[in-house]
Amino acid sequence: MKSITRQKEYDEIALQLNGLGKVCIIGCGACATTTRTGGIDEVALMKERLQNEGKLVTGWMVIPTACDEITAETAETHGEAIKNADSILVMSCALGVHRVSLYAKKPVIPALDTLFIGLEDLPGSFYEVCVQCGQCVLGYTSGICPLTACHKGLLNGPCGGTNKGKCEVDKEKDCAFTLIYERLKEQDRLALLKTYYPPRNNHVALRPRSFKIL
Ligand code: SF4
Ligand code: SF4
Repeated sequence: MKSITRQKEYDEIALQLNGLGKVCIIGCGACATTTRTGGIDEVALMKERLQNEGKLVTGWMVIPTACDEITAETAETHGEAIKNADSILVMSCALGVHRVSLYAKKPVIPALDTLFIGLEDLPGSFYEVCVQCGQCVLGYTSGICPLTACHKGLLNGPCGGTNKGKCEVDKEKDCAFTLIYERLKEQDRLALLKTYYPPRNNHVALRPRSFKIL
């Protein structure tokens, strides 16, 4: 499982750094390294770009896993670089950005956009399987998530636009409900297709969500 990120356009990064001339860069050695958005190479390129644009890069580091609590320790070992900066540019997913912002009083700027939590099928190829709705229906849908696999995010589908098993929104893509049908048929559980899902109870997912192990 990986948190999938994409680097923002440089213009947006520059806009966020407007008025902030001294920058410390933090990358992530886990997901953002795998996706080549915040590893050593990308941090080095960003450093060069910022310097070419006239910024002073006070230091940089790639934290093993930017979203976990070791971030505080790692940041401490690079205390000078952070102290001398007026901003911290984080090249990790939003979880890492948030984690860094817990420890830094300075402006913390995301260099990446966080897209989704993905599984890797082939090296370097990721796909989304769950949008973390908090009310999982995979037990009725043979392990295929309709909220994620259907372009309209339908629970009670298909939508009526399905054509020869393909999605009306994207003719190259299999309709989520065709996939669910085929798999349920293999399992001799087609009766589950008649399951009706009432409107979602969004109170279950009041934000921000939290969880404690008792
Ligand atoms: S129903 Fe889909 S989005 Fe919701 S938890 Fe299950 S897999 Fe994730
Ligand atoms: S064709 Fe299938 S996957 Fe596409 S939007 Fe309709 S129900 Fe969803």
